[in-house]
Amino acid sequence: MADSNKMVSVEEALEIILRVAQRLPPVTVPLHQALGKVLAQDVVAPDPLPPYPASIKDGYAVVASDGPGEYPVVTEARAGDDAIDIMLTPGTVAYVTTGGPIPDGADAVVQVEDTAIVESESSDQKRVRILKQVSKGLDIRPVGYDIAKGDVVLYSGERIGPAEIGLLATAGVFSVKVHPTPKIAVLSTGDELVEPTTKSLNRGQIRDSNRSMILAAAVQYHCEVLDLGIAHDDEKEIEDVLDKAFSSGIDILLTSGGVSMGDRDFVKPLLGKKGRLYFHKVWMKPGKPLTFAEVPSGSTGARADKKVLAFGLPGNPVSCLVCFNLFLVPTIRHLSGWKQPHLPRVHARLKQSIKADPIRPEFHRSALKWEASADNSGFVAESTGNQISSRLLSMKSANALLELPPTGSLIPAGTTVVAIVISDIIGFDGSGNLSSLRAISKTQRSYSGNTDADIHNNPEYRVAILTVSDTVSSGGGPDRSGPRAVSVVNSSSEKLGGAKVVATEVVPDDIPKIKEVLERWSDVDKIDLILTLGGTGFTPRDVTPEATKQVIHKETPGLLYVMMQESLKVTPFAMLSRSAAGIRGSTLIINMPGNPNATAECMEALLPALKHALKQVKGDKREKHPRHVPHAQAGRTDTWEHSYKLAGGGAEEPGCSCSH
Ligand code: AMP
Ligand code: MG
Repeated sequence: MADSNKMVSVEEALEIILRVAQRLPPVTVPLHQALGKVLAQDVVAPDPLPPYPASIKDGYAVVASDGPGEYPVVTEARAGDDAIDIMLTPGTVAYVTTGGPIPDGADAVVQVEDTAIVESESSDQKRVRILKQVSKGLDIRPVGYDIAKGDVVLYSGERIGPAEIGLLATAGVFSVKVHPTPKIAVLSTGDELVEPTTKSLNRGQIRDSNRSMILAAAVQYHCEVLDLGIAHDDEKEIEDVLDKAFSSGIDILLTSGGVSMGDRDFVKPLLGKKGRLYFHKVWMKPGKPLTFAEVPSGSTGARADKKVLAFGLPGNPVSCLVCFNLFLVPTIRHLSGWKQPHLPRVHARLKQSIKADPIRPEFHRSALKWEASADNSGFVAESTGNQISSRLLSMKSANALLELPPTGSLIPAGTTVVAIVISDIIGFDGSGNLSSLRAISKTQRSYSGNTDADIHNNPEYRVAILTVSDTVSSGGGPDRSGPRAVSVVNSSSEKLGGAKVVATEVVPDDIPKIKEVLERWSDVDKIDLILTLGGTGFTPRDVTPEATKQVIHKETPGLLYVMMQESLKVTPFAMLSRSAAGIRGSTLIINMPGNPNATAECMEALLPALKHALKQVKGDKREKHPRHVPHAQAGRTDTWEHSYKLAGGGAEEPGCSCSH
């Protein structure tokens, strides 16, 4: 049994965590959700590829023994032709395209480049001159050449990238068993912390950076996230939030702050009280106070033995993110079924001299890039500057942590050291910033949508229009409703308090596809209002309301009532519309019928109420957070609205239901 009071090494700490962490049981997901996950089943080819002998080139299928000469072209076999019922006899050839079926009797293909068309006015039979002798089998892929029927094309435990998605599609596998990625809740603790939206700071206050940062890191590793807000350094308050979090079905809890030696550092004792504390100090710099415990999940419906892995991350932002990289990334990968969850290591030459810490192994933040030269190509690591653990700028542009042993000596420039890769390896772009990291911060900016500049440059309310139609989506007809809705919204912009359509998309009448767009627009793009058009009728393919109901958190029947009332004045058939409407996070989603005129009518009916509704869904949130900071639940930011709800949490009510 581990002695939780002992200071453990980084290797020991990781070994303990990975021993305690249990791989998440497999779930079945549709193909489009499988990317990045680890397979939990073997996949067998149900048929051979190619299923018929296929040409590798554009050219002529021939009988190889015929040799060069002039031949009649007796048939054509293009890719996609279902049957070639002609038997090719010696002395004749067939035109074939790449991927086309080889007619029976032919045993080789002569590529177009080795042939010449014979021009003739007298005959309507096309003739071709074969210029080259080819051997039997040339440029033909026999049946099963790429994949034989019954071959295992993917094995359980393999990670699904684009090629694997292609193989699943080839094998006709539309839903597949994978290990899910964990659900992670993130809490910041500290009396000094205020929301990032706070304009001017009082004495003793700082903006909470860890929560946005760790939520972003978890999202980057494809986890579902739950934002628990900020808690004061108050034992009871932290305990309440933890209790609620542990019973909410999460796999991992991440707190930051409150694990040092201060008299108000309550996280460590609380984790010990709630579950089993494995360690609370790691021999490393930065990140020494890292705490790890395993706590029983109180979630109803969970397996009796389900546990939550709880990490008390240090409060200093650099320590917090370094610990996330060194310990949480392998943990997430292990839970998600990766066979080898460890971060990759490479050798790199130091660009400048670095002084090693005399006592603890140090993880020095650096920017790694490949430098090519005639005699000494390799990775070069440049320090990100002052390494004090409060200075988050030392993590910016860092794609590697240099593992420096505690010698206390100066390591000269040019020395080869071990670098742990924590991000993409890409080159400097001249400004000293790594372009991938710049891209991430750009995304975060667009997610937050809350800076002054954004408010001036962007409309108050961002609207997206989703046309749901098999016909339009398959190219069988033009989208008439979508453009109409765009012009109705944009022309009613003022009445809606400044609304603008910022996205449109077309999907078929298919629940997963509709849900995917609604979830993406709500959770990632933070759209304020989504209008769906179509799929609200009575036919079996009309499923928009069903898809919508699966993604909304709260229904808003009043809006539907008003829409129906007004539409009935114009058309009695309005009663046949089965629209749904509701709120997901801070996004309002409303189904409208597909008929272009109906969209205009519905919008007209909703306008007065809609402005108010949008203001509540979005505006109330903005005003309320600073007031509610003491309440950890209400302390969530707009930036990382959960894609996953805390059971029983009511903090996203436009009118807050909490009592204090
Ligand atoms: P603690 O681990 O609570 O002792 O905090 C160590 C240092 O990290 C203090 O200077 C805190 O102000 C700072 N800190 C703690 N939490 C956060 C946070 N969420 N965002 C930014 N700084 C933090
Ligand atoms: Mg603190």
